[in-house]
Amino acid sequence: MIGAMKSPVNQRVMKNAPEAVGETDDEPPDSASTMQPPSPFPKRRNIGRVVRFPSYRAGTISPAARNFRKKFYPKVTAKIWNDWRWQVSNRIRTREELERMLRLSEAERQALNQEDVKLPLAITPYYMSLISEADPAQPLRRTVMPSLNETVRMPGEADDPLGEEKQSPVPGMVHRYPDRVLLLLSDFCSVYCRYCTRSRVVGHGGIHPSRSRLEKAFDYIRATPSVRDVLLSGGDPLLLGNDRLEWILSRLREIPHVEIVRIGTKVPAVLPQRITPQLVKMLKNYHPLWMSLHFTHPDECTPESYRACGMLADAGIPLGSQTVLLKGINDETETMKSLMHHLMKMRVKPYYLYQCDPITGSAHFRTPVAKGVEIIRGLRGHTSGYAVPTYVIDAPGGGGKIPVMPDYVLGREGDSLLLKNFEDRQYCYPDPLCA
Ligand code: SF4
Repeated sequence: MIGAMKSPVNQRVMKNAPEAVGETDDEPPDSASTMQPPSPFPKRRNIGRVVRFPSYRAGTISPAARNFRKKFYPKVTAKIWNDWRWQVSNRIRTREELERMLRLSEAERQALNQEDVKLPLAITPYYMSLISEADPAQPLRRTVMPSLNETVRMPGEADDPLGEEKQSPVPGMVHRYPDRVLLLLSDFCSVYCRYCTRSRVVGHGGIHPSRSRLEKAFDYIRATPSVRDVLLSGGDPLLLGNDRLEWILSRLREIPHVEIVRIGTKVPAVLPQRITPQLVKMLKNYHPLWMSLHFTHPDECTPESYRACGMLADAGIPLGSQTVLLKGINDETETMKSLMHHLMKMRVKPYYLYQCDPITGSAHFRTPVAKGVEIIRGLRGHTSGYAVPTYVIDAPGGGGKIPVMPDYVLGREGDSLLLKNFEDRQYCYPDPLCA
């Protein structure tokens, strides 16, 4: 901090500080009267232009969404479009609706005719506005459109690959790690991702946020003092109304050993209209509250999503992202880097990059693990450390998340450790074994 005060940039900021906060002050002496050399830094009026990050006003509708609304919902006003409940109740759910908005390929048509599909179809009008009308290979389109591959079970795949059902002490709760639990509030999402780990339950109507079920979950947490962290997930917890969500948060806050509550949600990417001033005002009352946001591709980082994340960040909610590595969707280093850079600008810390779980019918989404390692190698050292997520495999059968890293340790040479940096250059670090 002391060092920072000595930097010329900060001296300049200090000089301008009273004006910046709107105080009146004597006019500062000019450089001629103090014999100072001309400043090498830009004049203050330019500073704002240099370091501006995107911020968007309330009611922001990006051009793509505006054009889409005018074309397919000509009678819907901007106000209605920005109402999250309208977005949810007008989700695209049938082949007929899709055919009105997209040019379906033969393979997509056949997939939509299948009866033996585990995961329902649902796409918010907002998310549909981001989807290519003509290109079945467009990354976002592939994440939400049913595929014929979903019914093909490959070796090693399972409906519940993470063994969540075996680690469930009460319905809708998973207790895998010693100090934290996962509580599924509902099985309802605004958009169903075709690679969803919980496709065996989401959208099936079997998990409700009922008082009686949740009271059993609260009783379990209350009786288990080792639980200091509760992750609310689903389904999407933010699809609950504010009142029900607040009831859940307040009940958890009554338990003294629950230190933090986390919410896992894809809403900022697929239904950013849900992030309302009323919601963030309510959430702020339940700190420390964290959020894990699910983003898949840079095309999801629209003005609407920027605004939603900005509101959450302004409410003091630490935001982390979770991204599933998907073949042909985000498995290029440059695509992933672009997504991570967007997230950083949205004030979301890239948290996990997941190897796609081997759920039934997911082979067409899964990459070799080497691809994930290659992407991390392409990020580490090549961009800010904050922008590098931890690449993990969720161990089949319930073993938990296992980090997978490029190998930067080459071995030992006597009392030195041999290391490789991001440019493949080798270095020795003194590391005596007997120290
Ligand atoms: S939002 Fe999450 S829970 Fe819902 S379908 Fe997508 S991955 Fe599954």
